[in-house]
This record gives sequence, C-alpha cells and structure tokens, in this order.
Amino acid sequence: MNIAHHVERGHLLFSDKIALIFEEKSFTYKQLDELAGRVANGLRGLGINRGDRVALFLPNIPEFVISYLGILKIGAVVVSVNVMLKSAEVSYILNDCAAKAIITTESLTENVPSSDLPELQHILIAEGEANKRISLAQLIENASPEACAVEMDRHAPASIVYTSGTTGFPKGATLSHGNVISNMYSHNRCCGMRQDDRLLLYLPLFHCFGQNAILNAGLNVCATIILQRRFDLEQAVNTIATHKVTMFFGVPTIFIKLLNTETFGYNLESVRYYFSAAAPMPIEVAQTWQDKYGKVIHEGYGLTETSPCACYNHDLKYKLGSIGAPIENVEMKIVDADGNQVLPGELGEIVIRGPNVMLGYWNRPFETQEVIKNGWFHTGDIGQMDEDGFFYIVDRLKDMVNVSGFKVYPTEVENVIYQHPAVAEVAIYGLPDALKGEIVKANIVLKAGHAITEEQIIEFCSERMAAYKIPRVVKFVDSIPKNPTGKVLKRLLREEEMSPSPL
Ligand code: AMP
Repeated sequence: MNIAHHVERGHLLFSDKIALIFEEKSFTYKQLDELAGRVANGLRGLGINRGDRVALFLPNIPEFVISYLGILKIGAVVVSVNVMLKSAEVSYILNDCAAKAIITTESLTENVPSSDLPELQHILIAEGEANKRISLAQLIENASPEACAVEMDRHAPASIVYTSGTTGFPKGATLSHGNVISNMYSHNRCCGMRQDDRLLLYLPLFHCFGQNAILNAGLNVCATIILQRRFDLEQAVNTIATHKVTMFFGVPTIFIKLLNTETFGYNLESVRYYFSAAAPMPIEVAQTWQDKYGKVIHEGYGLTETSPCACYNHDLKYKLGSIGAPIENVEMKIVDADGNQVLPGELGEIVIRGPNVMLGYWNRPFETQEVIKNGWFHTGDIGQMDEDGFFYIVDRLKDMVNVSGFKVYPTEVENVIYQHPAVAEVAIYGLPDALKGEIVKANIVLKAGHAITEEQIIEFCSERMAAYKIPRVVKFVDSIPKNPTGKVLKRLLREEEMSPSPL
C-alpha cells in the first residue's frame, strides 16, 4: 500500500493523458510519475529514507505535487506547512516533527529559520534562485526517473498536517497511507468523480481538503487537475470556461463571492458538480445557488484528523441544510458529556470512527488520548442527527474561530499578544461575518500607564503570525469577564457583541 500508487497506475493505464495543468504548463500521467520518481531518487541521494520527515513549505505549484508524490514513493513522510506562517510558526513545526529536509521557494525562505533546527539537513528551492541551497530543478535533472513506490504498511505515517491547537501550539495530525487511501475511495464514491472529470484546484495544497479531497481523489480516478496558485475570481471564472471544468470545490466564502459576481453567470455550463466544506454553508446561500444555477452545492464535513471527509450530502442521500450522512466505512454519532449516544434530535458532540481517523498527533500521546477515546475521534463540534440519519452542525465545544475555513485557535493568538509589553490581559474570540463566516476579535486590557493603538497591536501580530489569525477588530476594555475559576467567558463576550446596544 502506498498513496503514490495512484499516479503509477495513471502512468501505466493512461500514459499520455493530462494529469496536471498549471498556467501554460501541462504534465501527462507519465511525466508526473517520472518527475515524482526523479524527486524520490534525488531525495534518496541526499540520505532521506523511509520514515524521515520532509516539509513542503510551498504554494500551489506543480513542484508541490511532484515533491509530495516523490516523498511518498520512498516511504518518507510529507509535512505540509501553511505558506502564510511566519518564521516562529514554521520553526515550531520543523522542530516538532524533526524535519530532515524542507522544500520551499526563494521568496518563502525569509520565513525558514536559519538556526536552532538541529535535525534540518537540507533546504531545497523549488521556485526562484537557489543561491547556496539545493535547486529542486537541478536535483530532478540529475536523478533517474524510475522509482516504484515502496510498499508501506497501511498504518505507516504518510503525511503530517498541522492544525493549530487549543493549547496554543499546533499539533501534527498524522495520517497513514491507509487513512488517505480509504478516504479518497469513499470520497470518490460519494461524488462520482470520474476519469473524464476536470477539477479546479485553487484550495491550498497544504490543507487536507486540497491535498486529499481534490489532489489525491483526482489522481486516484486519473482525472485532470487544473492547479491554481490561489483563488482569483476572474481567473477561476475564465479557467472554468477555457478548460471546461466539471467539478468545483470551494468553501462557503468562495460561493458567496461568486454569487455576488454577475460575470460568473454565463461561464458555468461545464460544471456538473459543486462541493463545499470546511465551514458552515449558510442555507440561504445554498438555496440561492440552486435557484440561480439549477445545481445543488453538495456539502461535506470533516476535519484534518479524519483525512478529511467524514460525512457527505451526496446525490443518493441529500438533505438541504444538513452536512449529510457518514461516508462508506465511517461511523458517526452524537454523544453527551459522558460519551453516551443521545437520541435523534438531541444535541451533543459529534464523534467519528473509521479507517479515516488519524493515527494520532505526532509525538503527542497525551493529546491523542484526549481526542481518540475507545476508537472514537471526538471532534469538538456540537451537532445533532435527525430520524433519517442526517447530521447537522449546531455549535462548537472547542474554542476556535473559523475564518473562511481557516481555523484560528484563540490561545495561539493570545500567547503572541501577551508578549506585547503593554498588554495585561487579552481574550480572542470570533465575530460573525457575512462573507468570511467569522472574523477574529481581540479584547485587551492594558497595563496601568500604557497606551497603544489598535494599529500597533495589528502590526505587532502581523510580524509574528499568519495573516488570517490577526485580529481584525481590537477593543480596549477595563476587564475581561471570567467564571469563578478564572476561565474567560468567551460565550458572554460573543453574546455581548450580538446584543443590540442600549443606546
Ligand atoms: P480542519 O481541520 O481545518 O479541516 O477543520 C475542521 C473543522 O472545520 C471542523 O471541526 C468543523 O468545525 C469545521 N467544518 C468542516 N466542515 C464543516 C461544515 N461542512 N460545516 C461546518 N463546519 C465545518
């Protein structure tokens, strides 16, 4: 078993079929597999072996895909690093997983720390000038293209995807070859992805949604993937028309943007399937879309920890407003605080069991035990199930802000703001936002005798954290409400924001 067998199968069966298109370049299945083979052999030459961690700190460019497959071929473990992270955040991840090599771009190297990474032996540059580092293009040129993916145990780690943590430190959700393979098959059966499909892939490859639900799922059926560096409305609309895209995957913010853009209207004919996940899809948006374009937006739900897909609203089992029913081989239920299943219609935590549930958090047995209990993964999402077995998301147990599908864990942002010498106390929470779902807000109590502005706090944050985590609104307050044990009452803060002003 090896995830990379799918590209090898594509090479054998549909050698000259286009696997990947990026800007003016295109790669057949044969070319993609051979390039991956060259990366595999090149990495072996650098001393990278089975089980070693290789970080990909790359935007959506073909080199991501080629490197990802090359790393998997030799049984090494891919560590995906969000390209928006700043130096301290990247450093934390590289140390945490003890990465032996990192593949990045010239422009991103400013966020790759040059010291305090004892395990890091190689920095490879996939785009821009390599300077004194290793050029990925050179490594590819010098290596042989033949490299069959090594056989892996289904429980062997394949990929580590970092998700920020409630404790303030990111944790590496470790997915095995079996996790990813089972999930791509189940996902493909739900959406009916086919060899003649053309998928638009602008969602970040460093996230499980782009990496597994689109890239791996697409390669698995030998479809064609049209890769884009990021989401750009005009480019996406034009690409759909020129490449006759058949499947469109997005997050609610993207669908809202598209609905509000009239130019999109006449370019849609080729798309037969729409899918949304990662954040709650407002029912009015799904309904308006259906009325306007005559096609359903299928909604899925999952987490990085579940590879990612857990349940799905698909053609054979569909209910508007629901996140669907569990996918093949996956079980889901709603439990109370003691872990007992509740009745249909009652609220509780969503728990998931199945071959898609991660191995655990990298090197964190304690945190893993906290979330996987008796084989059931505890999601921290509050939901309910109806009499027909459809699930609905209602709220969250976990303290998390969902900004257009990007997850912000308040403790991580609070830890940074506490480093500011003028700050006595800070509470981070989410405010509802019509486009992004939620935005990050900070309530700050200043130390006596200190005065700073909202802009100074934002600037302080922007030097130290990824843009989507930075508070968009900063309010200076006299105190932060807490319960008798000192826990900040975030729910109260949110409710205060929502209630109309007495004036
Ligand atoms: P991530 O690990 O980044 O994929 O984030 C997982 C979280 O995204 C879940 O725990 C949910 O809170 C949220 N999420 C994913 N899909 C949906 C959905 N369809 N509706 C609402 N929230 C979702």
